Amino acid sequence: SNNETLKRLVILGAAESGVGAAILGKAKGWNVFVSDGGKIKPQFKEALEQNGIAYEEGGHSMDRVLAADSIVKSPGIPEKTDVMKKVRAAGIEVCSEIEFGYRYKGDSRIIAITGSNGKSTTTMLTYTLLKDAGYDVALTGNIGYSFARQIAERPCEWYVIEVSSFQLDDIHSFRPDVAILLNITPDHLDRYEYKFENYIASKFRITQYQKSTDHFIVNQDDKVIQEYLATHSIHATTIFFTMSNNIPENDGGFIDDGMMHIRYNGEYFDMSIHDLTIKGKHNQYNSMAAGISARIAGIRKEKLRETFTRFKGLAHRLEYVATIRGVDFINDSKATNVNSVWFALESMDKPTILILGGQDKGNDYTEILALVRQKVKAIICLGVDNKPIHDAFAHVVDTIIDTTSAHEAVHAAYSYAENGDVVLLAPGCASFDRFNNFEDRGEQFKEAVRNL
Ligand code: ADP
Repeated sequence: SNNETLKRLVILGAAESGVGAAILGKAKGWNVFVSDGGKIKPQFKEALEQNGIAYEEGGHSMDRVLAADSIVKSPGIPEKTDVMKKVRAAGIEVCSEIEFGYRYKGDSRIIAITGSNGKSTTTMLTYTLLKDAGYDVALTGNIGYSFARQIAERPCEWYVIEVSSFQLDDIHSFRPDVAILLNITPDHLDRYEYKFENYIASKFRITQYQKSTDHFIVNQDDKVIQEYLATHSIHATTIFFTMSNNIPENDGGFIDDGMMHIRYNGEYFDMSIHDLTIKGKHNQYNSMAAGISARIAGIRKEKLRETFTRFKGLAHRLEYVATIRGVDFINDSKATNVNSVWFALESMDKPTILILGGQDKGNDYTEILALVRQKVKAIICLGVDNKPIHDAFAHVVDTIIDTTSAHEAVHAAYSYAENGDVVLLAPGCASFDRFNNFEDRGEQFKEAVRNL
């Protein structure tokens, strides 16, 4: 084909999302150019080269970017960057990678999952429920391959997508058959002009283009969600899940007397919460949400039960590591905000030594003060700047120790711990001040534990 006559698609950012969109765009007949302001990782360069896609790195050639008919913006690129300001000023159409993928999804069906916490776990669980039931299904989004890449390379009947708020910021038609909103607590405010309402609006975009035949599965106990729903109307059929006594009158999920109940089309699925393999209250929420979506997808109750009693959860989410001389070590490196630390502490049933800190996103620790007072013997700080932790907890915990590596933190925790204690890595912060990412932080923690 003659490249000159094709419509020009510029992709900003060349990681999983950008490369996925580039491959899909190329396959669908766009003239694709990928531009990354930083360095592109070798595996992504290779994918671009294999597909014959032009790219640049280490800066943006603005003439080429501004010549685009359409732009796909990777979720990692903030609006305040120079390139985005110029793109907006030029009025070029911008969409996110999931929006771009959506336009080529054909007849396939989508379950999309968002929330401040629990996305990956719920996405993996939902995917596993469908997979175990024999569905033709792909796991996509922030977990695994990007949605656009899956659409290009592995067409399926069902897609289960983990969707971040950034992916929802530039959608114009993305309409999941089933949308799940798990919870909303302050996170990533640096990307939302420090306005919580902007972040909330972004999360609710998951249901914005849904119609009454679609389903919106949402946490009834979440105050932020409640307030939003009181003042906004939702087009989709809304299904609630809850742990309160305020049991949904219609279809929905609830916990009552140690039993999880999921009602869909008036029919009940019931099982004991003790038979769920993933532990903690938060995982009961995640299980209800995933279970409702699986019932909507038509999965039989026996199948549901099988998967729920087998699903192991993901690494770095309240992952049990080892018990050494009576001290348990638990890796919750993925706890990157205060709310997830709350759920981690809530599920601890032993005196806890908490490894906390990292890159602070403007944390407010008041939410966890009571639990810390009740359960935490000592705090081991793992950030570069630990002042916010000292300030928040000095009057609640006697022992607060600064450390500079996962190794040092594990040793400090272990030397303080007594038989019957638990050492919990739940940093409540991003990892980027000391580690490559949360996986790196979790791996270094586990390595240090194994070497004790
Ligand atoms: P996400 O993909 O949204 O970051 P994960 O499933 O990776 O979610 O879990 C992130 C962290 O939040 C983990 O520390 C986990 O233990 C905790 N968590 C999981 N589900 C929930 C939930 N529903 N509410 C609060 N915290 C949760």
